[in-house]
Amino acid sequence: MNIPVLTYHKVSGQWEISFTMMYPGQFEKQMQYLAGKGYRGKTLKEYLRENGNRDFVITFDDAYESVYQHAYPVMKELGFRGSVFVPTKYIGKMNTWDLTLGSDPVRHMDGEQLKELHRNGWEIASHGERHRVMTGMPHAAVKKEMSYSKTLLESLISDPIETFCFPFGAYNKRIVSAARDAGYKNLVGFTGPSRYGVISRSVVYRVVDNPRSVLRKIRTKDPCRFIENAKEGIFHSFSLLTRIKQKISS
Ligand SMILES: [Zn+2]
Repeated sequence: MNIPVLTYHKVSGQWEISFTMMYPGQFEKQMQYLAGKGYRGKTLKEYLRENGNRDFVITFDDAYESVYQHAYPVMKELGFRGSVFVPTKYIGKMNTWDLTLGSDPVRHMDGEQLKELHRNGWEIASHGERHRVMTGMPHAAVKKEMSYSKTLLESLISDPIETFCFPFGAYNKRIVSAARDAGYKNLVGFTGPSRYGVISRSVVYRVVDNPRSVLRKIRTKDPCRFIENAKEGIFHSFSLLTRIKQKISS
């Protein structure tokens, strides 16, 4: 499916060696630029229900607390809402898998923060339980992560959870059908071509993106969009380091 979806991770003033973190001021500039051009940021659920040609989707992976602190107020001001993908074992806990190279570990949103976002029109969605690569997991464990995370989030916000985002964007046919069996309607991957009906997204990177490149990412017919695809392909390969670190430390 070719729909305009942006991916963010942390939006924080705490510096770290990370390609995906975004400074609050940088994020604000991007959102204001898009709003100034008449674009409107929506949740995936809202977008799939109804969309105009200047609507786009904003997603946040991993439910970092910094998103609640810095992205949410900026978006609220502009009338934008986003989808947040929650690894449920980390709700209110410190992150353990990121490759932060010396900087302090960061916290994930707690239940109250997730509930507040939901009350303000945000979509709360599942990112599994432990943020593990699912393609290498035994099938019973995959099924358990998908159903337990869904049930937990549903009881937290008292609303159906419709979207599942694959940790590290890793999926195959088996994982996709397990997600469908667990009752997820919308499946979300990462950058790159989409398979099995999974929605692919454009990742925004701190070092190489600016308001204009972010606009190119959401204009799915932009003739220069290939530049964004190429950039994202290169940077996504760095996430392999995080996957290796997680494997070693588990
Ligand atoms: Zn993630």
